[in-house]
Amino acid sequence: MVWNIFKYGPNLKLVRLQVRLSWPLIKYGKKWSAVPVLKWIIYPFFKRPHNELTSIPIHVNVESPDSIALPMRLVERLVSEIDDIFLMDECHCAGVKNRKSSRLNIGCMAFGPSIARIHPSHGRKINTEEAVNHVRKAAAQGLVANIAHVWIDALAFQLTRFNRLLFMCLCDDDQCIYRTFMKRRGLSLDKTYKKLPGLSVQVDTSKCSNCQTCVETCFVSAVETKGKVAVIGDDCRGCGICVNRCPEGAISLTMENEEVMFQHLLDRIREMSNLPLKIEKRGKGVKSRFVASPEKKQQNET
Ligand code: SF4
Ligand code: SF4
Repeated sequence: MVWNIFKYGPNLKLVRLQVRLSWPLIKYGKKWSAVPVLKWIIYPFFKRPHNELTSIPIHVNVESPDSIALPMRLVERLVSEIDDIFLMDECHCAGVKNRKSSRLNIGCMAFGPSIARIHPSHGRKINTEEAVNHVRKAAAQGLVANIAHVWIDALAFQLTRFNRLLFMCLCDDDQCIYRTFMKRRGLSLDKTYKKLPGLSVQVDTSKCSNCQTCVETCFVSAVETKGKVAVIGDDCRGCGICVNRCPEGAISLTMENEEVMFQHLLDRIREMSNLPLKIEKRGKGVKSRFVASPEKKQQNET
């Protein structure tokens, strides 16, 4: 038993308890992150580079030549580049809100050598095929994949080597601790959640009926109405949630070609972490944060 404490982080029950206890702190930390004075106290907790997220809109059908939707194809390629994948049996965010939630069993996946420390009560190590099937199940429920490099995840599971760790969470807008409470975000939170480069979201104004659904549902308030049509602003993070919610089918998501998007995704991962990828063992280039251009270095530091 004592040996287990050194070998593994906390078990399922302990992590559930931690998440439940820390939930109000995170919730109000996010809500108050733009409030004068408080924002400077809260700022370090949500600051990059220890809080970084990027969405992959797996539930949106962006066509690719091999008939698999492009966002899903990117995820498939990404998980096939990773040796160590651990699937959690449950989503802790969903568990805090409602233990009967239909998506409780769509847990996060943790990537990287640190997964060896995750207590077996949380789930199990899986292969690429199982990971792809899990993401497909999430996409069918309309969830968005979030690639997350967030210190609180490493702390909750007591995972060392934070720089060689990433999570992929399958999130909605009602229960996810990453996505909720972002409308009143402060400066540090604003910088943590980035759109995947090469991806854009647009409104076909001839179809828009000004129903306001997208304005109300966008988790970062990136949509406004101009001249009785919706306009997507620069704050859009490309999560794609509004695409499927628009009753008129007026919102679409476009991406550059698969190879360009995949390179953007790998670059983004390198900005976030030093997760081992097979592509590097094969000698192909992925930009490293340690050899980043001066501009990228500056971005990482701000
Ligand atoms: S949800 Fe669609 S129809 Fe409604 S305002 Fe947004 S773009 Fe227009
Ligand atoms: S505008 Fe749509 S795609 Fe962009 S962040 Fe908001 S909900 Fe997501």
